[in-house]
Amino acid sequence: MRQRKHTSIDALHRIVIVGGGAGGLELATRLGDTLGKRGLAQVTLIEKARTHFWKPHLHEIAAGTVDLNTHAVDYLAQSHWHCFRYRMGEMTGLDRVRREVHVAPFIDPDEGEEVAGQRVFVYDTLVIAVGSLNNDFGTPGVQEHAILLETPAQAERFHRRLVNACVRAHAQTAPLRPEQLQVAIIGAGATGVELAAELHQTTRTLVSYGLDRIDPERDIRLNLIEAGPRILGALPERMSASARALLEELNVRVRTNARVTAVTGTGVQLASGETIPAELVVWAAGVKAPEFLAQLDGLETNRINQLVVHPTLQTTHDANVFAIGDCAAAPWLGREGTVPPRAQVAHQHASHLVKQIRRRLLDQPLQPWRYRDFGSLVSLGKYSTVGNLMGSLIGGSLWIEGLFARWMYQSLYKLHELALHGTWKTVLGTAARFLARPTLPTVKLH
Ligand SMILES: Cc1cc2nc3c(=O)[nH]c(=O)nc-3n(C[C@H](O)[C@H](O)[C@H](O)COP(=O)(O)OP(=O)(O)OC[C@H]3O[C@@H](n4cnc5c(N)ncnc54)[C@H](O)[C@@H]3O)c2cc1C
Repeated sequence: MRQRKHTSIDALHRIVIVGGGAGGLELATRLGDTLGKRGLAQVTLIEKARTHFWKPHLHEIAAGTVDLNTHAVDYLAQSHWHCFRYRMGEMTGLDRVRREVHVAPFIDPDEGEEVAGQRVFVYDTLVIAVGSLNNDFGTPGVQEHAILLETPAQAERFHRRLVNACVRAHAQTAPLRPEQLQVAIIGAGATGVELAAELHQTTRTLVSYGLDRIDPERDIRLNLIEAGPRILGALPERMSASARALLEELNVRVRTNARVTAVTGTGVQLASGETIPAELVVWAAGVKAPEFLAQLDGLETNRINQLVVHPTLQTTHDANVFAIGDCAAAPWLGREGTVPPRAQVAHQHASHLVKQIRRRLLDQPLQPWRYRDFGSLVSLGKYSTVGNLMGSLIGGSLWIEGLFARWMYQSLYKLHELALHGTWKTVLGTAARFLARPTLPTVKLH
């Protein structure tokens, strides 16, 4: 097949960003607004999806409490407004000597037709920001029977299946089968915990919309299953205890020290030999970076496929290639190990690289990136938000919960919106959603 090199403005420094998520899209937007707009560099974003959705809200799509269409950002329009180029496609390879990114043909998943062929993009600076995936650790049955929450399409699919399960149970005259209306969430990190609380709220709302043959307390069971000794294992113990107490108050069955050995069409098997019946299974455990990174022309990766980077966010084997966000194993300066895969890390990486790429163009030495830990917050739907604020910044942590915590939790998304849209558009978008709220059901029904 004939390959075309995409190098229209050869004189300019070519910045190619792969992955338009929490980190990559902020970076492309801000570099486009500065360098792209003034003609100082050509900024290209390669992304395999058509629209961007901020991943920390995916569990709310799954529960139906957030509508994808009101929050999705169209890459093509965003690139037009912010002076960068968007090229749809999936990066599959790299040639570091020729400085080429290889992109697979883009096939429309619904129509099956080829939209764009195989392509090669030449770069002077490459930033890889392809995020992470769930790690099923090879557990049998996960790919066939469980739903993963990695993309908006998967979250929407889960929501459809949840609504279908409720409508089916309501319509049926025969007694419910043991697995019917039972949900198993595997992995009690922030995603699993937040999803459990959100689903409690959603199922009650759905039933209140007229599915009155279902008694939520009797018929619906939410199981949260965790292999480790406590939920929210990566977060402070107080958060874990507080979240568990609230979930148990909501009648969520929390199982710790429970390792899943297989997922079947009717439930989940545990290492203890016990089976938990479940009609809907969500796999929210483990994190790994996409596998293609481990074969990326000799770049160094760790055991979960993250690209190993220096404090400058340059990959260890190639100073022209940077990695940011979840796919980067970035050192946590002043502490042991690497920074966690979080939205605030991706946001800070993007902000740092905006300045560093400008320095690179001026041939100035790059500065190291330092993680500023603003703490962790976990939203338990409408019931509560708990967390610790400021983390290492104040040399300790400040416990917060309730409305203030909810507001702080939402502010992380506002920061992302501000980086993408600026102040006015963010204010207008927030106001429009607020005003439209009374006209919409509180839970999406389709
Ligand atoms: C359900 C859920 C809830 C979460 N909740 C929180 C939370 O409350 N707080 C928090 O801090 N973090 C949370 N996280 C983690 C947070 O979403 C991530 O840390 C953050 O999105 C990482 O940003 P990123 O830019 O590295 O990757 P992403 O935001 O994942 O973006 C990666 C992008 O790369 C694209 N891509 C992937 N592979 C390719 C390829 N080969 N070629 C082209 N494009 C590609 C993807 O389509 C995607 O758009 C949550 C994650 C999930 C899944």
